[in-house]
Amino acid sequence: MELHPITQAIRIQTERSGQKEHSTPLFLTSSFTFDNAEDMRAAFADETDDNIYSRFSNPNVTEFIDKIVALEGAEAGYATATGMAAVFASFMAVLKQGDHLLSCNAVFGSTHNIIKKWLPRYGIEASYVSANNPAEWEAAIRPNTKMIYLETPTNPGLELIDLEFAAALAKKHNLILNVDNCFATPLNQRPIDFGAHLVVHSATKWIDGQGRVLGGVIVGDKQLIHDIYLFCRNTGPALAPFNAWVLSKSLETLDVRMERHAKNALHIASALESHPKISWLKYPYLPSHPQHEIALKQMKNGGGILCFELKGGLESGRTFLNSLKLMTVTANLGDSRSIASHPASTTHGKLTDEERLEVNITPGLIRISVGLEYADDVLNDILQALESC
Ligand SMILES: *Cc1c(COP(=O)(O)O)cnc(C)c1O
Repeated sequence: MELHPITQAIRIQTERSGQKEHSTPLFLTSSFTFDNAEDMRAAFADETDDNIYSRFSNPNVTEFIDKIVALEGAEAGYATATGMAAVFASFMAVLKQGDHLLSCNAVFGSTHNIIKKWLPRYGIEASYVSANNPAEWEAAIRPNTKMIYLETPTNPGLELIDLEFAAALAKKHNLILNVDNCFATPLNQRPIDFGAHLVVHSATKWIDGQGRVLGGVIVGDKQLIHDIYLFCRNTGPALAPFNAWVLSKSLETLDVRMERHAKNALHIASALESHPKISWLKYPYLPSHPQHEIALKQMKNGGGILCFELKGGLESGRTFLNSLKLMTVTANLGDSRSIASHPASTTHGKLTDEERLEVNITPGLIRISVGLEYADDVLNDILQALESC
């Protein structure tokens, strides 16, 4: 029977213990045994897919990977300890000295550091193109360009990149398209359907959805994933079985959670859009979003993140955070609890104004990760905080 990915995310069960348990047990073991030397030889010779050692594979990790593979419509996958390990492995296993990586400029902070600080040390060139100016992308492709990397929606500015356009460009120039799909989740957007070859996730965010564990995953083309698997098998960023167990369980509720996050976010975004203390507000599923057409084309809903600019700038941003009564001020997103952040005074506080503007962080920018609380409670918290700004 052909099952819908949403059903697969609930029903895939990779391994049982023999106790007829309904839920997947936790396989907290570093290694796996063999009945004889021949069986062990065959496993090491890749003649079987038996588990050998939990750095290579583990039933809880495999279950989590199989679910993401189903949700993203991918061929294969590998799970990592964090989202950053997934991003790093997707670069290091595929790119080599002399290659060039073309990336959109609005990327997650640590990804920016990998691209600017670490890749050049290994002889891998990298350059940025503007997320909201696709016209400049083709001219930025070099003879040695091997991969296009992008996030959509971008963090924290919620710019959208047309996946169909990026995939067509990658195809024309025979490049690998690698997409960080963390903000949208596979329930909202499936880059592989548009032609992406690799999709990376920080599972720490919406996939866990309750701010409890770190994790990452890379899915995509079978051959590329095999290269990534071999890189990770040797270098060791494996996902721990317990975290995989939590994340696999979380996937049983991802669809209903994401629908509610998006419904709450749309409600809050609509109510705030014309607030007198706000100069602009961005949410992909509001018609006022400059790239709303792209959102309708590639996203099933607007997601759980919205952002707005306070007219009062940097000082107002600080006041806003200090005035919140319900929402949490913390460096995470994608949680059942709503979270507010003011990048200019916190995560990006060390940068100069010019450096911040380069990554589209304006002085009064507030990012809200909308949780699963009663939506009007979150809205009222924002409204009362805005009164002080
Ligand atoms: C958080 C995040 C990451 C990094 O994930 P970790 O699990 O924190 O290592 C990468 N990309 C995006 C878009 C993120 O939000």
